[in-house]
Amino acid sequence: MYGGIIVDMKKMDRIISIDEESFILTAQPGINGYRLEKELNKKGFTLGHYPASVYGATLGGYIAARGAGTLSTKYGKAEDMIISLEAVSAQGEIFRTLPVPNHACGPSLLQLYVGSEGTLGIITEISIKIEPLPQIRKFNAFLFKDVRDGLEAGRRMMTEKRLRPNTIRLYDESSSDRIVKKVLGLDLKGCYMVVGAEGAEAQVLLEMKQIEEVCVALQGRELGPESGEHWWNHRYDFYFPPFNLMLPELTGTVETTTTYDKIYSIHLKKKEAIEVGFKDWNAKYIAHFSHWFPWGVMTYDRFIIPVPPEDPEEALQLHNAIWAKAARTSLAHGGILNDHHGIGFKLGWLMPEQYGTAWPIMQSIKDALDPAGIMNPGKFGFIKRF
Ligand SMILES: Cc1cc2nc3c(=O)[nH]c(=O)nc-3n(C[C@H](O)[C@H](O)[C@H](O)COP(=O)(O)OP(=O)(O)OC[C@H]3O[C@@H](n4cnc5c(N)ncnc54)[C@H](O)[C@@H]3O)c2cc1C
Repeated sequence: MYGGIIVDMKKMDRIISIDEESFILTAQPGINGYRLEKELNKKGFTLGHYPASVYGATLGGYIAARGAGTLSTKYGKAEDMIISLEAVSAQGEIFRTLPVPNHACGPSLLQLYVGSEGTLGIITEISIKIEPLPQIRKFNAFLFKDVRDGLEAGRRMMTEKRLRPNTIRLYDESSSDRIVKKVLGLDLKGCYMVVGAEGAEAQVLLEMKQIEEVCVALQGRELGPESGEHWWNHRYDFYFPPFNLMLPELTGTVETTTTYDKIYSIHLKKKEAIEVGFKDWNAKYIAHFSHWFPWGVMTYDRFIIPVPPEDPEEALQLHNAIWAKAARTSLAHGGILNDHHGIGFKLGWLMPEQYGTAWPIMQSIKDALDPAGIMNPGKFGFIKRF
């Protein structure tokens, strides 16, 4: 869009080493996520990173866009997994970050490149932590009266109990009704939550028991392990016809993350911003909460316009207007522009608004590391100065 070239990394796809003592994989960034997972599984390991894009995405893309997999609540996001990297700077210097991610040797050069979406250089080698394949994996499912109780259950698991479930996925009333009902064939009213744990057997059984106690204390109706396992086995069905959102529906994922004290109000405010703000278009808002942290949670929320304008230009303007409204509502109530899909071109123009007085600092990092502005020009809303 702003000039530049495309570099296809997919032929840099070698596994360089698997350190079975330190549980670290070193590989080239173009390796396909699914192939990498299969290779690790053969040796008794997993990356623990299962994004819905696993069949097409690369290891480099995971790191460059700060991705999150379905099991991120246990294993962390890409930024929590990375150990070190090699990159080529915009000026052609090949450099390595320190060999370990935790240190007291100054700010993290490693984390500067994680999530940089190709704007600061090209990542050419990645060392990342790997996990032992779990001894067992268990799921259960609960039905909550409303999203508030479901959020409180997740919060208690992650804070008061400090559990590390592999999954907590809570669907709001609308997405339980629209999606879960269809994909899982459940006739339910309320908010569906699937929860799981994995690892060593004794630890998993204990965690599942504690999860159940938390949910039951909040009047969560236990639907049973079969329902949770059914969700796990059908988790990719959500992305395929007839269950996925399809043309002519106009839709966008306007996800955000915030702390536990703010998540419920962000949910209500965004629902209102979309459904009331765009009621002339019969706008719908659906959300689920799927990546949980010890301090807060992300909401994977979407807008849907069932019958958008036929004129593509008009449809695009509407799409941009709804997205801007949703993003600004997140920012106004303690959220951020994005949790794990990245900023790219779509949200770049809102970055100065999000960062405020810190934005010039971000821009000067870009100017220092890419003085000619050749790395993904226009991304993140960076200004080309030279
Ligand atoms: C159907 C679908 C489902 C998705 N589900 C998820 C999900 O569950 N979780 C999730 O996190 N994301 C998801 N995504 C978003 C996206 O696929 C991921 O973020 C993925 O990690 C991107 O990897 P990629 O290899 O496709 O990168 P690309 O899309 O090719 O690149 C992403 C960005 O990173 C930069 N980049 C890529 N490789 C390098 C490198 N070696 N060095 C420097 N910069 C680089 C690119 O320039 C670009 O700016 C989904 C996308 C789709 C279409």
